[in-house]
Amino acid sequence: MISIIGAGASGLVAAITASKSGAKVQVFEKNNKIGKKILATGNGRCNVTNLRIKTTNYHGANPSFVNPALNRLNTSTCRAFFEEIGVDLVEGQKGRLYPRSLQSSSIVELLAYECRRLGVEFFLDTKVEKITKNSKKFTLHVEGKTVQTDKVLVATGGLAMPTLGSCDSGYEFAKSFGHSIVPTHASLVQLVCEEDLKQISGVKVDGAIEVYEDGQNITNARGDILFTNYGISGSAVLDISRKVSHSLLYNRALHVKIDLFPSHTKEQLKNTLKKRLKFSHEKSVALWLDGFINSKLAKFIQMSLQVKLAKNLNNKELTKLVYALKNITLHIEDTKGFKTAEVTAGGVNTDEINAQTMESKLVKGLFFSGEVVDVDGDCGGYNLHWAWASGMCAGLSYHLNT
Ligand SMILES: Cc1cc2nc3c(=O)[nH]c(=O)nc-3n(C[C@H](O)[C@H](O)[C@H](O)COP(=O)(O)OP(=O)(O)OC[C@H]3O[C@@H](n4cnc5c(N)ncnc54)[C@H](O)[C@@H]3O)c2cc1C
Repeated sequence: MISIIGAGASGLVAAITASKSGAKVQVFEKNNKIGKKILATGNGRCNVTNLRIKTTNYHGANPSFVNPALNRLNTSTCRAFFEEIGVDLVEGQKGRLYPRSLQSSSIVELLAYECRRLGVEFFLDTKVEKITKNSKKFTLHVEGKTVQTDKVLVATGGLAMPTLGSCDSGYEFAKSFGHSIVPTHASLVQLVCEEDLKQISGVKVDGAIEVYEDGQNITNARGDILFTNYGISGSAVLDISRKVSHSLLYNRALHVKIDLFPSHTKEQLKNTLKKRLKFSHEKSVALWLDGFINSKLAKFIQMSLQVKLAKNLNNKELTKLVYALKNITLHIEDTKGFKTAEVTAGGVNTDEINAQTMESKLVKGLFFSGEVVDVDGDCGGYNLHWAWASGMCAGLSYHLNT
């Protein structure tokens, strides 16, 4: 008997793969339904995987740890796996693949159907509290009862978005068997800034963002940047958030610079603005900028200038304005944390797991897969891909060992 803890992305694929290999599989899930997090992915559309999966899209203390799993399940075998259970995948932006239905519920329904067709037994609303092992068998401690089992897969996910079931169970199970945990922190998460941004809250720009740690540029990204009451969000912000969150673990001083015109050099932007001065009349700088940039941003930018009327912008003031448009500087206080993060960075130390089989190197018959492991991916289908791929490795290795 193989017991899987967690009916999320990784646990479900492991259950299917192990059952297909002839194993008897039971799955414990503390939520009242399976795949609750999958339902929330990709804004309800589920970004299943990506056409451009590479090792460099993954992070952790040992980035090459993902290679055997990515070789086992690459984009085309992932596509074939989902086709076989009845899901057609279609391409969105940046190589992202979604179910043709654009409904994450299709993924959950069809994974569930496949599990049941193969005879996987589910225990919902059932939290595994502790796992112990004697010389041969594991014992799961489940709400006052015990269950004996031959092998255990910990597919309990990470800490991101506790409302969807995330908790620290997996790390506690790992520690109880002597595993070490690489410190966890939120990734793909919104950032809290020191500055008061209420005035520009709700404004979204297609810009570039650079992150500075103790004055040194450590990462950058391009794409949507959304200003909010608390700070910044949007795809470019999620992209830089892993490094920011990691630096915050070590209390580093961080600031970001936002360029509202990444496609213009300073000179090009200055020339464009100079031409617009023809239409300045008696307009305030904010009104003159309105129509060129969002009106809320125009008022925000005006605050950084001495000159109030656009017609009074001399060469020096225009240079200052260009600087302001290409260097909105914000100091990062914190991230929004696990409450709203999409992913957990850190987790069960990969030095202690066999990358081919996902089996613990410390305890025979104990496996880990998905987000509970110290692997996290970029935004764009990479995290689910890791969950499917590592779950499949674990599912297949039951077969080899049983
Ligand atoms: C809002 C949101 C959107 C996202 N969108 C995408 C996306 O579009 N594409 C992408 O690639 N990634 C996305 N991600 C990340 C991705 O969903 C996760 O990385 C992935 O689901 C992790 O799979 P998992 O199986 O490891 O963990 P989970 O899916 O979290 O599953 C773990 C399960 O274990 C259960 N569990 C935990 N402890 C116990 C216990 N003690 N007993 C019983 N059950 C237990 C939990 O209830 C949970 O159901 C998103 C994440 C969020 C939060």
